[in-house]
Amino acid sequence: MKTVLITGAAGFLGSHLCDKMIKENYKVICLDNFYSGSFDNIAHLKNNAQFHFIEDDVRNLRNIKINEQLDYILNFACPAPPPKYQKDPVFTLDTCYKGAKNCLELAKERGAIVLQASTSEVYGDALIHPQKEEYWGNVNPIGARSCYDEGKRIAETLFFDYRRKYNLKIKVIRIFNTYGARMSFDDGRVISNFIVAALKGEPITIYGSGKQTRSFCYADDLIDGIYKMLLSRDDLYGPVNLGTTFEFSVSEIASKIIKLCSSKSEIIYKDLPEDDPKQRKPDLNLARKELNYVPKITIEEGLVKTIEFFKIKLQNI
Ligand code: UDP
Repeated sequence: MKTVLITGAAGFLGSHLCDKMIKENYKVICLDNFYSGSFDNIAHLKNNAQFHFIEDDVRNLRNIKINEQLDYILNFACPAPPPKYQKDPVFTLDTCYKGAKNCLELAKERGAIVLQASTSEVYGDALIHPQKEEYWGNVNPIGARSCYDEGKRIAETLFFDYRRKYNLKIKVIRIFNTYGARMSFDDGRVISNFIVAALKGEPITIYGSGKQTRSFCYADDLIDGIYKMLLSRDDLYGPVNLGTTFEFSVSEIASKIIKLCSSKSEIIYKDLPEDDPKQRKPDLNLARKELNYVPKITIEEGLVKTIEFFKIKLQNI
């Protein structure tokens, strides 16, 4: 049985990855410091013989004793929702840099394949649309979002420098907006915020005009793409965009959620946060060609599943 180390494994995506790797018959070593992840996300795996949990910080990874042979290391450790990564920007930057470096050092020592969860945020407020992997981005280096955007960019740089210098087997994916079960209800993201407000009958807050767009991917589709990338040929380093081309304005998402929740919530408007990108949609040609990656879950299907998750979550708090 092969072994995979997943950092940030108690987070929204990390926990879905744990499920996927266990299903595919891997032993999963899971690391999380619960800064933004939650034990609830991995509680169902607690007694699974393939699952081993370590509560610690990725910045401390090199001091943790891991006896198992490691075949894969997946670095998902970083707060991702804007309010959470902006709460302590220095911590976010530190986690991005030291987390990536520690994963790379461990991969070098163990001969493991190492995958970095990068982000569409590396494109910043993109000036080309849709965003292709070759695009270098339009990122403000000193703004409120910079700790995350630049943190993820430096992590990508480290990955490619380790590959050039030590010939490491690296994989870099750029994840676009993803949603689904296990998002935390207070993470501040558009879909979770809107669903929670709609279910409670509270006002839905749109930042700015609501004309800004995002392309939304349901978590299961994204996990499928990540798994394909992990098993791809050795010289496919990436970066590879993963997400969907289902592009909607924030206003359209609000209307869909209000309708699907049969909610009476009103819409109110607040100022757009600093450096909020105006449009975002991945060019998925590379993922399609190299990974045969085709997301299948429509926005309606994904929203219905996510609304179900939040209904149950809200009943239990
Ligand atoms: N947004 C909004 N209301 C909310 C949360 C977010 O209008 O309650 C907007 C936000 O300003 C952005 C878009 O929705 O334009 C997506 O925000 P999110 O934080 O989910 O993702 P990101 O901006 O990182 O893509």
